[in-house]
Amino acid sequence: MATYRDLLAQVKTEIDEISSIEAHERLESSDGSIFVDVREPDEWDEGHIPTGRGRLEQRIEGLVPDKGRALVVYCSAGSRSAFSAKVLEELGYSNVVNLAGGFSDWKRNGFEVTIPRVLSPEQRARYSRHLLIPEVGEEGQQRLLDARVLLVGAGGLGSPASLYLAAAGVGTLGIIDADVVDESNLQRQVVHSTDRLGEAKVESAKRTLEALNPDVRVVPYQERLTSENVDHILSEGWDVIVDGADNFPTRYLVNDASVWHGIPVVHGSIFRFEGQVTLFHPGVGPCYRCLFPQPPPPELAPSCAEGGVLGVLPGIIGSIQANETLKHILHRGDSLAGRLLLFDALGTTLDEVIVRRNPECPVCGDSPTITEYIDYVEFCNAPVHL
Ligand SMILES: [Zn+2]
Repeated sequence: MATYRDLLAQVKTEIDEISSIEAHERLESSDGSIFVDVREPDEWDEGHIPTGRGRLEQRIEGLVPDKGRALVVYCSAGSRSAFSAKVLEELGYSNVVNLAGGFSDWKRNGFEVTIPRVLSPEQRARYSRHLLIPEVGEEGQQRLLDARVLLVGAGGLGSPASLYLAAAGVGTLGIIDADVVDESNLQRQVVHSTDRLGEAKVESAKRTLEALNPDVRVVPYQERLTSENVDHILSEGWDVIVDGADNFPTRYLVNDASVWHGIPVVHGSIFRFEGQVTLFHPGVGPCYRCLFPQPPPPELAPSCAEGGVLGVLPGIIGSIQANETLKHILHRGDSLAGRLLLFDALGTTLDEVIVRRNPECPVCGDSPTITEYIDYVEFCNAPVHL
């Protein structure tokens, strides 16, 4: 009976082989050769020839339907791939070569290798439901882990948004909020809890979010966003801002700063039973001032005393903000830029209004008239903590 060594020697006489140097020349000349790595996934993860990944005879016919296509098959030392090359020939591939010496010889020659960043086994388990969706997958999950999202407000909208962003593995969450947790917040601000009463909201949120997911780092800013600190905070490298501000001065400040810093803002607002969400994406769609050039006069702004809200409403709107943020990070789906979603909790209806950039917008228009921050006065002494 033939030994493995005999079989390998036999197969080697029946296939063509090339050296690492010849394989490298093929790669450099982009001659169309496809490199087929027949090693195990963990071997691939530890380093591979910098080409697309093609593996397994069972999948090859789907991946490479053209049976005349040049294939370079490799494993770690050139033996496993010799058998694979033989199988590929039997499958009808006419231009197959085995890489003699395999990946080891490739590395010995000092040729370039790609060492992909990989998720840890704990991360594979935690994000398994993301890894199962092709639109997210491992690459998307790495994007989420690398992403930096700044949340304005750790209140009604910031609570669900931050919880879902943290759970999804968004690696860095900045949170700006000057307030402390009050009993009247807990009806809707689900990132906080009764044992946090009197604690700074940013610290309470940090504890909850980092306990939910150790991959997440929360950067707390226990301060009110003002014209004094906005440039400093926004220049710390944020991919997107989630605006859950509960007052007009902050909303306008976030808008103007985001236009000047070129950072997209996922905007949300709520009042009683109604909520709104959109994406203000500088250079792509309108900004907040394209819709509302100036704040309403104080007498027309909703009275703070009447600023009630159904507890679940910020949960719905903040979750849509989280959804929009994840889509933006993943570069997936249709963005909300130029579309204002209107949710009515009593009718349970969702309407959409098309909104366009206003060429006469005082901030993002063709001839801006506002070029410096404006600190609008607060409309009431006791702001509503939406
Ligand atoms: Zn504008």
